[in-house]
Amino acid sequence: PRSGIGVVDAAPKQLFLDGRWQDAAGGRTLPVDDPATGRELCQVADASPEDGRRALDAAVAAQESWAATAPRARSEILRRAYELIIERKEDLALLMTLEMGKPLAEARGEVGYAAEFFRWFSEEAVRIDGGMSRTPDGANRVLVMRQPVGPCMLITPWNFPLAMGTRKIGPAVAAGCTMVLKPAPQTPLSSLALAAIMTEAGLPPGVLNVVTTTDAAGVVEPLLRSGDVRKLSFTGSTQVGRILLSQCADTVVRTSMELGGNAPFLVFADADLDKAVDGAMIAKMRNMGEACTAANRFFVHRSVADAFATRLAERMGALTVGPGTQDGTDVGPLIDAAGRDKAADLVQDAVRRGAKAVLGGEAPDGAGYFYPPTVLTDVHPDSALMSTEIFGPVAAILTFDDEDEAVRAANDTEWGLVGYLFTENLDRALRVGEKLETGMVGVNTGLVSNPAAPFGGIKQSGLGREGGRVGIEEFLEYKYLAIPTG
Ligand code: ADP
Repeated sequence: PRSGIGVVDAAPKQLFLDGRWQDAAGGRTLPVDDPATGRELCQVADASPEDGRRALDAAVAAQESWAATAPRARSEILRRAYELIIERKEDLALLMTLEMGKPLAEARGEVGYAAEFFRWFSEEAVRIDGGMSRTPDGANRVLVMRQPVGPCMLITPWNFPLAMGTRKIGPAVAAGCTMVLKPAPQTPLSSLALAAIMTEAGLPPGVLNVVTTTDAAGVVEPLLRSGDVRKLSFTGSTQVGRILLSQCADTVVRTSMELGGNAPFLVFADADLDKAVDGAMIAKMRNMGEACTAANRFFVHRSVADAFATRLAERMGALTVGPGTQDGTDVGPLIDAAGRDKAADLVQDAVRRGAKAVLGGEAPDGAGYFYPPTVLTDVHPDSALMSTEIFGPVAAILTFDDEDEAVRAANDTEWGLVGYLFTENLDRALRVGEKLETGMVGVNTGLVSNPAAPFGGIKQSGLGREGGRVGIEEFLEYKYLAIPTG
C-alpha cells in the first residue's frame, strides 16, 4: 500500500471529457478536504457550465456508435473494470478514506461492493432480450426490442463515492448509453480514479465524461433543459431531487431518483436481541450513519426496550472514534462541519424535549468533524430527528406497546426507502414486512444493499430501482415494430 500523499498525488484531478483529461475553463479548481483534519488534500478542476456542455456534447457524439457495439464487448469492459478495481482495492480505499472519512476497513468494503455492480452488469449486458408475438386478431406481428435510452446525466452523493458511481455507470454501460457523471464536490477523487480505470478497461472516448464542479446547479440545469439528456439518474437529498424533477419536466427526461430515507427499525418482544443489536450496529453505524438506509428511528417493544438500549449503548460505546486511516478506527469523522453541526443540533433538540443521552451526545473539540456514537432513550415523537435524516452515529429510541402502533409510527413519514424489523415469529415478519411503506425491508438484518437486489424507495424516497434484474431496465427503452402478418 502507498502512503496517503502518494495516492492523492497519483490521482487524476482534471475533467474527463471525450476520453481526455482537461483543465476546467480558465483553469479554475476546487479544494478537496480531509474530514479527519479539516485540511486541504489537493485541488481538482472546477467545471463551468461551458465545460458541462462540452461533456454532454461528447456523450451525444458517442451515443450512436456506442449503442451499436456488441453486448459482449460492453460486458467485457465492465468485467475488466471489475478486475482492475479489485486489483487496486488498497489504493482506491485509501483515496476514498482520505476524501470522505470512513474507516479504511469500510472503504475496502465499499470498493468490493462498488466492483460487484460492474460484475453484475457485465452479466446483464448479454441478457438484454425482446420478444415476438401476434395480436389477438392475428393481423399483426408484435416485434419488441430494447434500445438504450441515450445520453444520461448521472449525479452522485459523497457518502458512497465509488459505489454510487458504479451502480449507475454499470447499467448505463451494459445498456449502451453514454453519460456525463457529476460527482459530489466533497468526493471527486474516487470518480476521477474510476474514469481512469474505465479507460484502461477499454471504454471508448466520450462514453463516460466526468465533470467535477462547485456549481452543480449552474452546470446541470442547462444540460437537463437542453433536450439532449434522455435520462437522469440521481442519488442525493429529496430536496435537490424535487428541483431536478422539475427541471426534467419541460423536456420529459426519464428519471431514476434515489432520495432520502427515514428508516424505522422495529424490535418486537419476540425478537432475538442478539440479532437485533447486531443489526442495529450495521443499520446505524455503517458509514458513521451517513447512509440513506441508516436506521433513523428505533421503535422497541416496551418489554425489551431497556435491555436493547443498554446493549446497544455498550456496543456503540466500545467503538473507537478516530481518523479513518488509523489502525483500529471504527468510526471516522462526518463529512464536514455542517454534517457534524446538524447531528449535534438534532441531539440537542431531542434532549431539550426530554430525551436522555445514555451514550455520547457531546461533539468533541479539536480538528476534524468527529461526532461520538450517541444513544438517546425516551425520545419524544415531536423531536426534529423523527422527521430529519440524522446522517450521523445517533440512535434515537422510542417504545411501543402493540404491533399496529409500531407499524403506524414506522409509516408516519413522507419517506419510504427501507425499514428493518426484528422478530422470531415468521407470521409477524411477513405481516409487518407487507405493511411497511418502504421499497425495502430488512428482516432480522441491518443490511439490505446488494447489487443483485432492486434497491430503491417509495413515497418521497424516490422513483425507480438500481441493481437487481430491473437495474438495467432503467437505461433501456422498449420499441415495438408492428408487422402485418399479410
Ligand atoms: P447531500 O445533502 O447529501 O450533499 P445533495 O442532494 O445536496 O445531498 O447532493 C447530492 C448531489 O447532488 C451532489 O453531487 C450535489 O453536488 C448535487 N447537487 C446539489 N444541488 C444540485 C442542483 N441544484 N442541481 C444539480 N445537482 C445538484
